[in-house]
Amino acid sequence: MTLVIDCVAIGDTMMQEIIEEVKTLKSKGITPGIATLLVGDDFGSRMYRGQVERFCEEVGFNYINENPPADIPEKDVIEVVKKLNADSAVSGILPLRPFPEHISDTAVINTIDVNKDIDCFHPFNMGKLALGEPTFPPATPAAVIEILERYAREVEKVDPKDFFEGAEIVVVGHSNIVGKPAAFLALNRNATTTVTHVFTSMKGNLAQHTTNADILIVAAGKADLIGPDLVKEGAIVIDVGINRVKVLDENGQPVLNEKGKPKSKTVGDVSFDAVKDKTKAITPVPGGVGSVTNRMLIKNALKACRIQNNLL
Ligand code: NAP
Repeated sequence: MTLVIDCVAIGDTMMQEIIEEVKTLKSKGITPGIATLLVGDDFGSRMYRGQVERFCEEVGFNYINENPPADIPEKDVIEVVKKLNADSAVSGILPLRPFPEHISDTAVINTIDVNKDIDCFHPFNMGKLALGEPTFPPATPAAVIEILERYAREVEKVDPKDFFEGAEIVVVGHSNIVGKPAAFLALNRNATTTVTHVFTSMKGNLAQHTTNADILIVAAGKADLIGPDLVKEGAIVIDVGINRVKVLDENGQPVLNEKGKPKSKTVGDVSFDAVKDKTKAITPVPGGVGSVTNRMLIKNALKACRIQNNLL
């Protein structure tokens, strides 16, 4: 019997845990805070900014919104980051990318105080992640690990340490923000870790790796990339992908909405209905990894706050 992992419930539980921790910090006179840095008005970044603001309100964090215009010179953006570095109300800084073309990602990110780098963008923190040292693990792959750890404890009733050690974990996708750090987090837990990517697919070798996986983590951004032929019987499948696709009718034609435009829906990278019964456990999309990702960011900000207040 397949378990569809209830990531929304995991996110809700984490939210309650976070609210309790914030209460404890506030009783010591400390209020954690997150600052977002959005240069200009990129649509996706504005949506994400709004989400972070709502989460901050919900858990009782300070929220600081830095939103300079798109034509601000790079040196002035650097000054904004330095100001946030020095602000004790700011525990964590979240740069929202893409930046306008004249602003270098590297210049901005390398200016962030490494103790306020809550999504692990700074090379110093990425290096610590690679070395297996304590750091701020990037929110999305950290969410994947959190889901697996809770699954190990609550469903399989095993210590997460034993669950990961020697498990065959295959990651599909090797981006700097999801695939690579997910692989480091798995390796740091002594899983036998394989990373695959578009060149693995181009050589026709993807199935050869994915069908070995006890745990398959997919973060490619390609709807229907993973069908049942790519999954081992009884595997655990974590689908990170988020894709907008057209809704099709039984003849493969687009279904139209009341305005005559094609209807769309959100899906992952895994063909959920076709793959589900082959798995031991699987995360859905929507209502999957994304429901935990923002909580991980808030957890990192809590950790940053404790470090900055000598409570760790
Ligand atoms: P990305 O930067 O585009 O990276 C995608 C990765 O997948 C790349 O390493 C790419 O390989 C690989 N890939 C592409 N096509 C492939 C194929 N046919 N076979 C094997 N590998 C393939 O994307 P990302 O930022 O890592 O995000 C990945 C997905 O996760 C997206 O759908 C994104 O929306 C979603 N996401 C979800 C959350 C969440 O909270 N749920 C958070 C962040 C991202 P190459 O580099 O070699 O081309």
